[in-house]
Amino acid sequence: MGVDGTGAYGAGGTDEGAPGARWRPAARVAGLGTSVFTEMTELARSTGAVNLGQGVPELPSPPELLADVAEAVRSGANQYPPAHGAPALREAVAAHQLRRYGLAYDPRDEVLVTTGATEALAAALLGLCDPGDEVIAFDPCYDAYPAGARFAGAKLVAVPLVEDGDRFVLDADALRAAVTPRTRVLLLNTPHNPTGKVFTPDELDAVAAVCREHDLVVVTDEVYEHLVFDDASAGAHRTIAALPGMRERTLTISSAGKTFSVTGWKIGWVCGPAGLLAAVAGVKQFLTYASGTPYQEALARALGGVEEWAAEVRRTLGRNRDLLSEGLARAGLRPYRADAGYFLQADIRAWGHGDGVRFCRELPSRAGVVAIPTSAFWVRPGAPSHLVRFSFCRSEDSVRTAVERLGSSG
Ligand SMILES: *Cc1c(COP(=O)(O)O)cnc(C)c1O
Repeated sequence: MGVDGTGAYGAGGTDEGAPGARWRPAARVAGLGTSVFTEMTELARSTGAVNLGQGVPELPSPPELLADVAEAVRSGANQYPPAHGAPALREAVAAHQLRRYGLAYDPRDEVLVTTGATEALAAALLGLCDPGDEVIAFDPCYDAYPAGARFAGAKLVAVPLVEDGDRFVLDADALRAAVTPRTRVLLLNTPHNPTGKVFTPDELDAVAAVCREHDLVVVTDEVYEHLVFDDASAGAHRTIAALPGMRERTLTISSAGKTFSVTGWKIGWVCGPAGLLAAVAGVKQFLTYASGTPYQEALARALGGVEEWAAEVRRTLGRNRDLLSEGLARAGLRPYRADAGYFLQADIRAWGHGDGVRFCRELPSRAGVVAIPTSAFWVRPGAPSHLVRFSFCRSEDSVRTAVERLGSSG
């Protein structure tokens, strides 16, 4: 399992390389298999196709941030940081939540720095769920959610986001119907990967109402919080933790990776009430203890000026999104609206068939482009197969080349 499938190793249980007959993979990894991300990244490499598959940004990072990391390394910030994270970063995260969302967190025991959002998600699920508990997530969803639930022995219950014209919308009745006495956690992701959806104020209200009514804990993944493009129409990012009665039941997760285009640094954080946070910290201390001292120190400074930086990234990504959507539309691959993040969905059926996996396997030779079948993100069996995810976090040149190639293929 890896971030967006980066590191998925085969866990098929064949004898090759096995130490002996008694060896087999643990049940919790047996179903994970080699992911389609690995396959598509390899296809991009071997064919020279433009890779609009995996969400690895080709975008700049703030030069001062890079210089600050180098300086931190040279000046000796190379040993374990405090288990909960560098105090300066915890303070910067708390200041950020207050400034942007009006939410006060005590940096001493309500903010935890993690090894990326990925560790925060895993530690939250392990810290909050007993075997047999249920976790609700919206389908399609980020691939770390089903894996994290599985590691905790919990059951991921998928509530589909529904196609409505060029958008995906919440079905509040389906959400309500999915809650059982075993439901412990609702996993929310807004802005959303893989659709680029931003949950609307009404949708957030509806989700919050269900969580209050059934006393659920919300784990909200907001790694794209700064990357909402059309502030006027879609509205800026809102966090569910700021709604009435929600702060006390919500763990909010974010990360530096997407905001600052430093996905290899793996510095994330969680904010939440001390009791909930302690459950996450208890697990986290034995997953990695702590990591990334020089990055933490440098990010503590960068986070104070994140708004200015993010405005620039949004402009770049917004332009790429427009280029890609227009190019896909011209090529007959109907794009869905993406209001935020790195990705958008396209309907491939006009190119002859509706099998996204086959489409993505053929696309490098057909058009010199790599994309990811959205089926990799569906939890429910029998989910639609005609959707494909394209990423636009690449350079403008890459996006232009891709749409030119798609335009002359089809
Ligand atoms: C990229 C991504 C993550 C992983 O964040 P890291 O900080 O790199 O671990 C988590 N959630 C979503 C929705 C993502 O797209």
